[in-house]
Amino acid sequence: MSQQWIYLDGQYVTKEEAKVSVYDHGFLYGDGIFEGIRIYNGNIFKCKQHLDRLYDSAKSIMLEIPLTYQEMQDALVETLRRNELRNGYIRLVVSRGAGNLGLDPNRCPKASVVIIVEQLAIYSEEAYKTGLKTVSVSTRRNIPDALNPKIKSLNYLNNILVKIQSNLSGAGEAIMLNSQGYVTEGSGDNIFIVKNGIIVTPPCYLGALEGITREAIIEICEKKGYKFKEQPFTLHDVYVADEVFLTGTAAEVIAVREVDGRVIGEGHAGPVTLKLLEEFRSIVEQDGLKVW
Ligand code: PMP
Repeated sequence: MSQQWIYLDGQYVTKEEAKVSVYDHGFLYGDGIFEGIRIYNGNIFKCKQHLDRLYDSAKSIMLEIPLTYQEMQDALVETLRRNELRNGYIRLVVSRGAGNLGLDPNRCPKASVVIIVEQLAIYSEEAYKTGLKTVSVSTRRNIPDALNPKIKSLNYLNNILVKIQSNLSGAGEAIMLNSQGYVTEGSGDNIFIVKNGIIVTPPCYLGALEGITREAIIEICEKKGYKFKEQPFTLHDVYVADEVFLTGTAAEVIAVREVDGRVIGEGHAGPVTLKLLEEFRSIVEQDGLKVW
């Protein structure tokens, strides 16, 4: 990618020109929403699901996106084309737009839309075999009746505090609990455990984003007849699991080898995790919207 083009409110501008107002409520208050999407060999993986989640998040926070669904999809495709990107990551941001210093979103006449596409710095292939060292953290997941984790909002301070704590422990990712002590998700991924051949993930109402990779894994389980359950669980269940793995657009399906000093299974990626990663990678170039 020689020159990077960024979509900013209807214009395609360079990285240097891509600037938004300091009065933008996305900047002042984290008032807005976003999506992280991947393109695999010219296919925007689960494009519809990502756009649906974006428009659902917007509806939930009463943010009017100034583009129709089709216009948004067209802008996404055009940004990828202009950057000649076949493989990479797409960041779609809709902020409340510029207002005044007060909180009131009614003072922000127009939402701002930004699309950034880039090559992706992901985990090494080695990390998918060795797995990640993780810790549970004392910071609890936002409670759904304060700020629902199903909304993919620009307010990621909860996740950032968790990331700071996991960095301080020298871990690669953190496990967040809710205020009842149930496991919810990682700082930027959903979590699954495998015990006695059964694959389990917590229900999102406990405090997790409805991850699109999570959904893809559930679909694979159903299609291939793997035993799967959506069920609340605690840290104890994580510690004694045969396998633990995380799912997310950037991370795909990555094993966890250690949680709070407890070695999980054999201490590296287990057979179910590796099989699911393989199945997942076999669909990423088909399931979605073809750009090229
Ligand atoms: N949970 C959180 C908090 C996230 O930020 C993400 C990444 N967007 C996920 C889960 C995974 O979601 P997805 O599979 O849709 O990327």
